[in-house]
Amino acid sequence: MTARILDGAKIRDQVFAELKSEIAALAAVGVRPGLAAVLVGENPASQLYVKSKIASCEQLGLASWLQTPLATVTTGQMLKLVDDLNLDENVDGILVQLPLPVQVDTKRVLEAVNPAKDVDGFHPVNLGRLVTGRPGLVACTPAGCMEILRRAGIPLEGANAVVLGRSDIVGKPMALLLMHTNATVTICHSKTRNLPDVLRRADIIVAAMGKAGYVDADWIRPGATVIDVGTNKVTDAKEAQRLLKNFPERLEKFRAKGSILVGDVHPNVVHVAGALTPVPGGVGPMTITMLMSNTVKAARLRLGTSSANAASRATRSSLIAQ
Ligand code: NAP
Repeated sequence: MTARILDGAKIRDQVFAELKSEIAALAAVGVRPGLAAVLVGENPASQLYVKSKIASCEQLGLASWLQTPLATVTTGQMLKLVDDLNLDENVDGILVQLPLPVQVDTKRVLEAVNPAKDVDGFHPVNLGRLVTGRPGLVACTPAGCMEILRRAGIPLEGANAVVLGRSDIVGKPMALLLMHTNATVTICHSKTRNLPDVLRRADIIVAAMGKAGYVDADWIRPGATVIDVGTNKVTDAKEAQRLLKNFPERLEKFRAKGSILVGDVHPNVVHVAGALTPVPGGVGPMTITMLMSNTVKAARLRLGTSSANAASRATRSSLIAQ
């Protein structure tokens, strides 16, 4: 058996096409949704992430702003910056790229973001809304996993779903989203006993633990759907050999480049699962996609249905353009 590959890049293209019409409808009432990114210091990985987020905004015609405080920034300065963005009527989404430098109180900064502009879905108010099943902004990676499951037509109601990992940004919201679709959800973590047995009962597995190729192929029930959130850079030749010995083309890529991205499930899972997200190219593209979707959603929610509100924003936009 070879799993159906759930192609995140294809789903991103579909969602982007849908977003473009929504953005056009907002433009018709004078609103251009906009994302403000805050990138502290010069962490190369963070710079790369923010660059692709801004590039996606440009591709979709969203407004974007980039704030780049120095790595020596204080908590107070970050709070002031977030507050200014909260007050800026043209900003619909605020993205504070993590990690922040050690001297900055990350929790305080994230909690200072207006929940209505919290397009990362990290604010406790948005997490609370998710718990209680109310509309709000949902964390991008789990929202992206749900989008993949839905668009692939994977049956969720009554399914046994196992979420591997219980972080605030992936595992917990993922489990809640699955529960709200009437899946029966088990959450596993580093203290879970008999993980292989728990996984063998799963119709759907979402692996978000950050351990390259940890989930063995024989822990997967044949035909199960596997969403692999892990993005682990493997640089060790022995590790690459262990993971990729049945995938000569990928091993060749590793040898040429000196590194390769591997998910949390062993690549051999492709021969057991019924459907699988590849790494790279599965969940990865969906995270930025849902950030764009959340920015548009935030603009729509902030706009409300009031035409007076739309008019006031339109006036503001035209004043700014002058
Ligand atoms: P995290 O905060 O480090 O959480 C990892 C979770 O995995 C923890 O809950 C931990 O349990 C659990 N875990 C660790 N070892 C385990 C084991 N042996 N058995 C069962 N559970 C175990 O990580 P995260 O931020 O959620 O991210 C998880 C992975 O997703 C990482 O590889 C990250 O790079 C990737 N990720 C990808 C995207 C994307 O866009 N593709 C976005 C976000 C994250 P405890 O709670 O007991 O410690």
